Amino acid sequence: MPHTILITGAGRGLGLALAHVLTHEGHTVIGTIRDPKQAEALKTLGAEVETLDVADEKSIEALGAKLANAGPAGVARPIDILVNNAGVSSRQNKLTELTQAELRRAFDVNAFAPLLVAKALWPSLRAGERKVVMNITSQLGSIANNTGGSSYPYRGSKAALNQLTRSMAAELRGQCTCFVVHPGWVRTDMGGPGAPIEPQESAAALAKLLAKAGPPVSGKFLNYDGTELPW
Ligand code: NDP
Repeated sequence: MPHTILITGAGRGLGLALAHVLTHEGHTVIGTIRDPKQAEALKTLGAEVETLDVADEKSIEALGAKLANAGPAGVARPIDILVNNAGVSSRQNKLTELTQAELRRAFDVNAFAPLLVAKALWPSLRAGERKVVMNITSQLGSIANNTGGSSYPYRGSKAALNQLTRSMAAELRGQCTCFVVHPGWVRTDMGGPGAPIEPQESAAALAKLLAKAGPPVSGKFLNYDGTELPW
């Protein structure tokens, strides 16, 4: 059954690959971008395009307000699934390299934005049939698996995302399915040319997870193959 799925950071990388897979499955995809030059690739797929800078609360609220009044007779446009995919890595990996600005940038985009986007889209998610929020995290956000250390902005912000998602899942139990997924090490600008997984392969696996996502996965930390990862 076709659903309406909003993906943040859909202009390149994993977000664009996921838009590709989901539009080909017949879903209505709303892809958000910052750079208008990225609109063409999404439109070619048949996706709708919205502008969103997830580091800017006003931008998030503007999209929420637009969707909240976009349905018939001014009611919220239903969104079945929100995929918080937009993310940033960092070059400040060592303790002595860290700046407050870089830590804030990582936490704004990777940890706080998924929560604020879900809040802004809540009228639309409530109006949707599926009521699913999938937050793209990283296995580097696992505290249990952190033996390598460093990468403070990225590890810290993804660990925070994991915790915040778990809180959302608990608060919204019975109303919304909220979970985090590690997409694998994927060959994108972020993953780099040495990554073993093609964006299309990861996106296809994520689409499978979305197809069956429901209350049993809420509050879980999954690998892209559906297995659970340690917190
Ligand atoms: P890319 O760097 O290729 O793409 C990042 C995406 O996030 C771009 O679309 C970018 O938009 C968007 N983005 C960044 N900052 C903002 C912002 N302030 N507002 C709106 N959009 C923003 O990364 P990937 O595609 O590889 O990563 C996708 C997700 O997967 C991320 O959450 C990442 O942390 C996660 N991940 C990736 C892994 C990998 O191996 N690639 C491994 C584990 C997790 P723009 O083009 O405007 O910059």
